[in-house]
Amino acid sequence: MTTPLVEMDGDEMTRILWKMIKDELILPFVDLKTEYYDLGLPERDKTDDKITIEAAEATKKYGVAVKCATITPNAQRMTEYNLHSMWKSPNGTIRSILDGTVFRTPITIPSIKPAVRSWKRPITIARHAYGDVYKSVEIRAEEEGVAKLVFEGKSGKKEEVVVHEFKGPGVLQGMHNVDKSIRSFAHSCFKFAIDNKESVWFSTKDTISKKYDARFREIFDEVFEEYKSDFERLGIEYFYTLIDDAVARVMRSEGGFIWACKNYDGDVMSDMVSTAFGSLAMMTSVLVSPDGKYEYEAAHGTVTRHYYKHLKGEETSTNPMATIFAWSGALSKRGEMDNLPELVNFGCQLEDACFDTLNAGICTKDLVNLMEGIEPKAVNSEQFLKAIRENLERRLAK
Ligand code: NAP
Ligand code: MG
Repeated sequence: MTTPLVEMDGDEMTRILWKMIKDELILPFVDLKTEYYDLGLPERDKTDDKITIEAAEATKKYGVAVKCATITPNAQRMTEYNLHSMWKSPNGTIRSILDGTVFRTPITIPSIKPAVRSWKRPITIARHAYGDVYKSVEIRAEEEGVAKLVFEGKSGKKEEVVVHEFKGPGVLQGMHNVDKSIRSFAHSCFKFAIDNKESVWFSTKDTISKKYDARFREIFDEVFEEYKSDFERLGIEYFYTLIDDAVARVMRSEGGFIWACKNYDGDVMSDMVSTAFGSLAMMTSVLVSPDGKYEYEAAHGTVTRHYYKHLKGEETSTNPMATIFAWSGALSKRGEMDNLPELVNFGCQLEDACFDTLNAGICTKDLVNLMEGIEPKAVNSEQFLKAIRENLERRLAK
């Protein structure tokens, strides 16, 4: 390796897996260079969460990060960890510093059939993570009255429209988005599509929302002009369609594309797609910034229930797949950026060694009831990693 990976450690069961993955599957094979940031909750508390900001800044500097799942504190965590503040979600902090979009992709294997029969390849959901209903303001109208939407420009220009003349009680909501964020979202989607050689589907409801959703569509069209020739060269496409048409097409598709969604649509559709593909433990996640910086992680959390069992000395069978794929994705990307084909190859071989293991029926407990057509053998996390290591050694010896 030439440039270090930004390594962000995390919490609970995934922190345990993190070390096991490094010891078993990375360090014996790669001359690993990382810049280490401990985003575990105790360290975030100790540094007043500065460590999270530093890790995000390092990602901006180096371009590729790999992150372990972390606790987002709530009231119960305040007492559990004796925190002096309810620190914000590290993912939220990193995302706002990098101004990125999160892409979630299921890891698919032949023995786990998606709930939708036509799906043959993974579907990636790209969710715009800014604004709309998530940053809305609301009023509960208690009586008869008029609701207006007013914009007062800095120049003095004023625009005003009547939202509704209430004849009695009701509710109203004001929401917004900004061109800059929509543009970043579009850049991240097209960059990710080129990296993965997959088409982009983008859907909104611009027949109804003729200014708001239409602005999303316009910006996507504009930004796409910069990527058009690359898309043509790779034989992939960008198309826009209405959200309801998109839903129907997704259900009939074979998969293998990126579905870009506005914030709310992405929230809902990502849960639908991930559930239909089988398991949260088999979902990867990568944050891509508009200027091409990458942060790889698992989509699941710190698997608290397993951690408490682990602390009691009980054996756990936690699935490390998504975390391994965060490492393989990050190493391959680093290799690609630094022109190190051996590193890229290692990332691919690691993923294939995982597939060899699962395809032989060796899996963690969460997958046992999902597998069809083979005789699954449930093992604990340690045994699972050992089996992957054997397959990896076999592959690298060839
Ligand atoms: P979770 O850690 O994803 O776990 C939810 C449940 O899903 C687990 O109890 C387990 O089910 C199953 N599961 C998830 N990942 C698994 C794996 N790798 N192998 C086997 N089973 C797996 O979500 P959570 O319990 O809601 O959240 C726990 C903590 O994680 C919270 O403090 C939260 O803030 C944090 N979190 C972090 C991130 C992130 O850093 N990206 C994302 C989400 C949540 P069973 O218990 O039935 O086996
Ligand atoms: Mg959701």
